[in-house]
Parts: sequence; C-alpha cells; structure tokens
Amino acid sequence: MATVGSVTRQIAALELSNKKPTNSARPPLHSKQPSQTNVARLLTKYASPNATATSSSTKQKAATTSSNATQPSAIPTKTPAKTQGQTPSPPPPNAAEVMQSMDIGNYDGGLEKENEKRGEKVYGEAAKDLALDSSSARKSPTREWTLHDFDIGRPLGKGKFGRVYMVRTKCEPKYILALKTLYKSEIVAGKVEKQIRREIEIQQNLRHPNVLRLYGYFHDEKRIFLMLEFAGQGELYRQLSKYGCFSEKRSSRYIDQMADALSYLHSKHVIHRDIKPENLLLGLNGELKIADFGWSVHAPGNRRMTLCGTLDYLPPEMVERKEHSEKVDYWALGVLTYEFLVGNPPFEDRRSVNNTYRRIMAVDLKFPSGMSAEVKDLVAKLLQHEPQDRLPLTQVLQHPWIVKYRPKGCPRGSQVY
Ligand code: ATP
Ligand code: MG
Repeated sequence: MATVGSVTRQIAALELSNKKPTNSARPPLHSKQPSQTNVARLLTKYASPNATATSSSTKQKAATTSSNATQPSAIPTKTPAKTQGQTPSPPPPNAAEVMQSMDIGNYDGGLEKENEKRGEKVYGEAAKDLALDSSSARKSPTREWTLHDFDIGRPLGKGKFGRVYMVRTKCEPKYILALKTLYKSEIVAGKVEKQIRREIEIQQNLRHPNVLRLYGYFHDEKRIFLMLEFAGQGELYRQLSKYGCFSEKRSSRYIDQMADALSYLHSKHVIHRDIKPENLLLGLNGELKIADFGWSVHAPGNRRMTLCGTLDYLPPEMVERKEHSEKVDYWALGVLTYEFLVGNPPFEDRRSVNNTYRRIMAVDLKFPSGMSAEVKDLVAKLLQHEPQDRLPLTQVLQHPWIVKYRPKGCPRGSQVY
C-alpha cells in the first residue's frame, strides 16, 4: 500500500527534463514510480495553501506524528467498496484536471514590483558566470524555462538575494515548485558569482529524500531563478521557535533523517558546513529537507549571526581556522541534537562571541536534567574536539537513541516520515 511518505518521495524524485515535457517523470532513484492519480490526490490534499493554513494544533500534530510511517487518511489507495443500492463512486479525476484546479494562493505582484526597484544589469565576466540555465547544463540538462512558464502563487519568503514564491508549471504535469529569485548584481556585489554557479550545479545533481531538490534554473537580464522542491511545512526553525524544543522522539527522527542525508552528501564529496535549524525545511508530511547547503560559506549573514552575532555551530577546527573535513558536519549534528532537545545550542554564551569560542574550544558541554542517558551518549560522541574521534554517521544511524524511535520496517533514516 502506498504511504504518504512514499508518494511524496516519489514526487520529489520526479524529473522535469527536456526530453518529453508532457510525460517527463523519470523513475526516481529511491522508490518505484507513483501513479499520476496518486500524485494528484496527494497534491490535492497537501499542496494547496489551505493545507498550511490549518490550525496550529493540527500542524503541530502533523509535524509531531509525521514520522509515523503512514497517514492512512491522506491517500485513498482503494476505491470504496461498492455497496448494494448505492451508486458506485465516480472514477477519480485525472491528474491534469486536479493539478489545474489546485490552489497555489494569491500572487501579490511582488516579482515585478521588486524587479522595478531592485538590482541592475551585470556586464563582462560576471554576466557570463551568471548566465545560468539548466537547459545547457553539462550533466542532466532540462528543457528551457522562462518566468512565463509558471503560474505564480503566494509568497513563501524572502531570501538574501530575492523573494521565493509558490508556483505551478503551466505545462503538464502542472508541477508545484518553490521559485527562488537571486539578483545578479547583488551576487556580484557579494563577490560570490563563481561559488554560486558551482553550488547550483552541484545541487542540481543531488537526489535524496531529505535534501531539497533543485529541479532546474534559468535567468533573465537581472535575475537567476531556482526551481526548488516545494517544502510544504516551511521552516523547521519556525517550529523550534514556536515550541521551544522538541521531544526526544521527534528529535531522534529528525537526526535520523539528517544523518542519512549527510552520509549521502559526504558520499558525493559535498560538505554542508552550515547545518543549523535555519537551513532546514520541512516537506509536506513534516519530513526534514536540508536546504541552503554550501551556500552559507559563500553568502554570510544569516538570522542568527545578524541578530545575535553567535557562531554556535562552528567546530573547534573552524574556530581555529584550521583545515576542515566533512567531520565539521558531525559536530554540527551534535549541536543540532542538543538544540532540538534543549532549545538552545550547547556552547551559547550571550555575553560575547569570544566566550562562545572558548566554550567550543574547551568542549564545555553541560546537559540539563531530563535528557536521557542515550541521547547524552550520542551528543557527547559527536561533540569531540578531535574530528577523527567523532562518531561516524554510519554509527549514528545505528545508535540506540536513533534505533529506539525509528518506526518498525524503516531500515534507514530517510524512510522515516
Ligand atoms: P536567509 O538568509 O533568510 O535564509 P536565503 O537566501 O537562504 O535567505 P531561503 O532561506 O532559501 O533564502 O528562502 C527564504 C525563505 O523562503 C525561507 O526561509 C522559507 O521560508 C522560504 N522558502 C525557501 N525555499 C523554500 C521552499 N523550497 N519551499 C518552501 N519555502 C521556501
Ligand atoms: Mg536560508
């Protein structure tokens, strides 16, 4: 029986390629292809902005229970049995019909308004570096896209270099996406054009259910547009701010998904370097999605730094500006586990940045009462001063605190929704 999780993963794994725009879904790497009808049903139920406008208690429940393997009410997998005297249920509407009628919310005209005031044309080498178009990508080129190919819906947020909108492709299969704009002249002002280009190319080739997909990208005179997987439940940081901290069960399931996604990234020689709640999004069913990876290195200035001036997730080797490896992400995973459970990172010191640095260098780790022995063991094993002493991700995935909360039948973190 298809679960919400499996179908969502399948949606996330669909390709938007130039080969056959009307039937462009390629079999995903992780699971078998969903039927279009199931995709349509799922999108109808969860992808509309109404789904995110549910009451906070419903949302909390959805996120808290999201790791449960199935949400049977979400996808009717069987047509109701025909009972005597009743007319049989009509066949389910086809995917195209449903997707066409799906509500993506109201567009506020923000892209045009912003474009009148913001950014400038760029020239020379920088213009060449930023002439980004996934249709000409060396690896997995997509079809050519322009802004006219999308119906634009509600605003989802504001990024450093431009706004993010919920959009739907006008062409079949009427795909829901998040479209993120980046103003080229601002990228040039930040001297990050080469890095952004490289990171976009890397991200387009990543495929993991807990890594936010980049389906394609295109540009116009002033902007680059990223076609991102739509993260239906938004920012994990918002949930953490709202509830203060998470239960051990919920935290364990997030860390399970994180460890799996980081293992995948490291196997592709991608180090995230900026793991923290602000860079994590939640999918339609509350599944964790690593976003913004690698970018923070090129685009400094995030909420935490701007507001508090803290650098709570930096490992000792980065504090000391030594060479670093993928083990910086192991450290950050330890910090993240602690912050999920306690509500603030372990080495936070509001008095000064230097105090935070000192605490990091000394691995001054104090556990508040109430934390289980198992999670303390995991955090302590990740927060080791020497990178080579940190618990490898394969062992994180087998750690008792992770295994304990993993739903039965889920061999890996990525399958836990
Ligand atoms: P910031 O420094 O504020 O994090 P940024 O340039 O990294 O800026 P993003 O974090 O990618 O920009 O996007 C800004 C906001 O837009 C996010 O915080 C989130 O609320 C929303 N958003 C971005 N991408 C998506 C997505 N794929 N699905 C849903 N919402 C998204
Ligand atoms: Mg961000």
